[in-house]
Amino acid sequence: PVRTRIAPSPTGFLHLGTARTALFSWAFARHHGGEFVLRIEDTDVARSTQDSVDQILASMHWLGLGYDEGPIYQMQRLDRYQAVVDQLIAEGKAYRCYTTPEELEAMKAGQEARGEKRRYDGTWRPAAGKTLPAIPAGVQPVIRFANPTDGEVTWNDLVKGPITIANKEIDDLIIMRADGVPTYNFAVVVDDWDMRISHVFRGDEHINNTPWQINIFQALGAPLPQFGHVPVILGDDGQKLSKRRGAVSVTAYEENGYLPEAMLNYLARLGWSHGDDELFTSEQLVSWFDGSHLSKSPAQWDAAKLEWVNGQYIKQADDARLASLVAAQMSRRGLVAPEASRLAQMCALFKDRCSTTVALTDWLAMYVSDVQASEEERVQHLTEAVRPALQALADKFSTLDWSKAAIQAAIKEVITAHGLKMPQLAIPVRVLVCGRAQTPSVDAVLELFDKEIVVKRLRSF
Ligand code: GLU
Repeated sequence: PVRTRIAPSPTGFLHLGTARTALFSWAFARHHGGEFVLRIEDTDVARSTQDSVDQILASMHWLGLGYDEGPIYQMQRLDRYQAVVDQLIAEGKAYRCYTTPEELEAMKAGQEARGEKRRYDGTWRPAAGKTLPAIPAGVQPVIRFANPTDGEVTWNDLVKGPITIANKEIDDLIIMRADGVPTYNFAVVVDDWDMRISHVFRGDEHINNTPWQINIFQALGAPLPQFGHVPVILGDDGQKLSKRRGAVSVTAYEENGYLPEAMLNYLARLGWSHGDDELFTSEQLVSWFDGSHLSKSPAQWDAAKLEWVNGQYIKQADDARLASLVAAQMSRRGLVAPEASRLAQMCALFKDRCSTTVALTDWLAMYVSDVQASEEERVQHLTEAVRPALQALADKFSTLDWSKAAIQAAIKEVITAHGLKMPQLAIPVRVLVCGRAQTPSVDAVLELFDKEIVVKRLRSF
């Protein structure tokens, strides 16, 4: 059966690149009726935090990437790794190495000086007829994997195609540190084996690790999963997407007013395609995602396109849902949100012109906080000529039974009485009440205000 996994290290938020790999792994498992596992690779004890685990889980949940097993924590599996290490040592496939980090550095510096490749030289590797050095006192050994010295490692990568590396290029990897904590390349193999992972999708920065991992799988007599190494995501500037160049955490996009289904849709299109389809549901993604059409070359992050995609989803989104998202944004800004059903009407009126819920909140803030049009707009639109009409309108409004039809009728009466054209009154009204010269239809916009606020703002000129 198909089993995939995502294995983030909890040293920060869920990075967009990891989210995309998770999405591919999830969609592939769902497509094949398989299972998707979440594993937390927390062996970097100094840098792993519970806060990061919480953020990763929250982001997975927000994106709708449900997992069938997990989270499984590597640090809770130390006994298992130890048992496998013991077995490998007993079989002569791994060995204790007493070379200290300082000696190792000196060894590699020497190799470099001689123009050789930096690598562990195999001092402690047992071999027939070889006498090992005397075990130094007080040195806790690391465990190294006895990598095959000849032949080559070959796999047919799901994304990159066939890859071959000669074993003589690969040195004997440390699989367990002196403190009994396994290294990534070893723990990942034991886990993928124990968790019966059939397909490994991950970033192509791990390609160089895969030959070691395959050799370890083989030393353990474990079945090999298939590997698919997904190219990196590049930023707008052609550099690897990184924090310095903009938001790279899933959480940031949530906070910046993106909808999870839009993120999912956009992330799926980074390095994968289905014909010319740009907008699709997660159900469609699952039905299409069979592991083919993954691109070999890096994907380009395109903030403008993501915003466009999000705007498409905002337009179609349920108004009550948008209202609750906007209410959360408002409370983050210290604003008191309007009552839910009224806020939903406001969202309905403005959602067509907004590509994020933050932009929607920018618009709707006028309903719950003071507004100030730009000086330029005030000078241009708030003229002495229009003052009497604005005052007349304020007077009419103050006794009006507040409804869209009544607002419209009152505006018509005032423009007729003052010999104005619609925009000559409607624009100054917008500038005063909304703080902007352009809005949707003025009667629809005003109706959603409290009448008293409208009157007060009209009289503020
Ligand atoms: N913890 C590794 C990472 O976050 C996982 C790599 C893998 O999927 O094997 O890069």
